[in-house]
Amino acid sequence: MRLTRYFLPTMKDTPSEAQIVSHRLMLRAGMVRQASAGIYSWLPMGYKVLRKIEQVVREEQDRMGCQEVLMPTIQSADLWRKSGRYDAYGPEMLRIRDRHDRDMLYGPTNEEQITEIFQAEVHSYRALPKLMYHIQWKFRDEVRPRFGVMRGREFLMKDAYSFDLDYEKAAESYRKFFVCYLRTFARLGLKAIPMEADTGPIGGNLSHEFIILADTGESAVFCHRDFVEADASGLKVDYEDPQAVKKVVDYYTSLYARTDEKHDASLFESEVPEDKRVERRGIEVGHIFYFGTKYSEPLGASIATPEGEESFVHMGSYGIGVSRLVGAIIEASHDENGIIWPESIAPYKVGLINLRAGDEACTKACDEIYAKLNEAGVEVLYDDRDERPGAKFADMDLIGLPWQLVVGPRGLEKGVVELKSRATGEKEEVSLESALSRLGA
Ligand code: ATP
Ligand code: MG
Repeated sequence: MRLTRYFLPTMKDTPSEAQIVSHRLMLRAGMVRQASAGIYSWLPMGYKVLRKIEQVVREEQDRMGCQEVLMPTIQSADLWRKSGRYDAYGPEMLRIRDRHDRDMLYGPTNEEQITEIFQAEVHSYRALPKLMYHIQWKFRDEVRPRFGVMRGREFLMKDAYSFDLDYEKAAESYRKFFVCYLRTFARLGLKAIPMEADTGPIGGNLSHEFIILADTGESAVFCHRDFVEADASGLKVDYEDPQAVKKVVDYYTSLYARTDEKHDASLFESEVPEDKRVERRGIEVGHIFYFGTKYSEPLGASIATPEGEESFVHMGSYGIGVSRLVGAIIEASHDENGIIWPESIAPYKVGLINLRAGDEACTKACDEIYAKLNEAGVEVLYDDRDERPGAKFADMDLIGLPWQLVVGPRGLEKGVVELKSRATGEKEEVSLESALSRLGA
């Protein structure tokens, strides 16, 4: 993409409405614009990142055997009356009436809907387990929408649901999601710590929030340092082997990690050596929990057991805040000059800077590099504007592409270009061929 053609409305000044760094950088880097409180339009670069995150999440769900569906955003109130949540949900739910005076709502979540679909079709334990997910926009009329896309009212969520015969089988599904989440967040370049969370009236210990550490996080985090140091990238587990999956989960749950509500200071002091205690703040990016027959009972989702009896299915639900992740990743990965995208979700891999757009040799070299990168399928954003070098460098740092390839007249005379890593700031003078091969072209 040529910058002269791209819609990338960057800003030099810090927008006054943004309180935290990710929100400021998303506005300044021209990724989003607010439509109304907690509701955003995604501009080309922001939307590209959102879709890349969505794709990583999708691939990891598919890998664990979860199947993608797409349920509507608008749901009928009657469905929610069956579970009792239509009244219980409160003012966070956006309630709508259609032209026939039927009560509808914009879905804040989909447990009722997926349970309804399941109960109409599945009647025997033989069809279990069933694991399904969708990636869909949700609406929650949050009291205090803030921090940009991190706490919006309209936001993109991946929510998955599991259906199993009994608690034991449901726990197996739960553990698969646990491991899947470790892999997903590692691929996104994040260190996400699974924290034991509140299970409410259902009890048990099958509820974890996945939290990434960031000073601006809304939750307090208390955990063993080994959690922070554990590296889940490259974690390979056979999802068909429940024992192998359990081993991974057991390791992660053997260490102390709790959020605000569940933190037990006395346990933290006695179980975790002083030099291993981490007390920080974090951002919730995912939440998994088992809730038994909470929805299958009221919605009549029962199946025939091997003994020939009827039994309500045991369910769990598993969320990831896809749009929140865009902000959360920036919170975890930026410096004073701007965003530093992990390569897996960067909008473009390379930013090509033509230092002198008026110079024939520079332009010719850049056009050729641009063509070669495109041909090789390397995503490149080409700054072909007639602008001062300083402005180009500042914009490129701001939008945070992993590599910058700088082409100037002096270098070209010597036959070299400059390759800069955004993350380390390291610059190298290399020949054009070696720059291209390093970038995969
Ligand atoms: P929170 O405690 O932050 O309100 P929640 O417990 O309501 O979250 P879930 O219902 O478990 O969240 O939703 C799953 C995921 O969706 C969360 O882990 C979070 O990443 C994301 N999410 C929830 N609410 C919002 C929101 N208002 N804006 C953006 N993402 C959200
Ligand atoms: Mg909430």
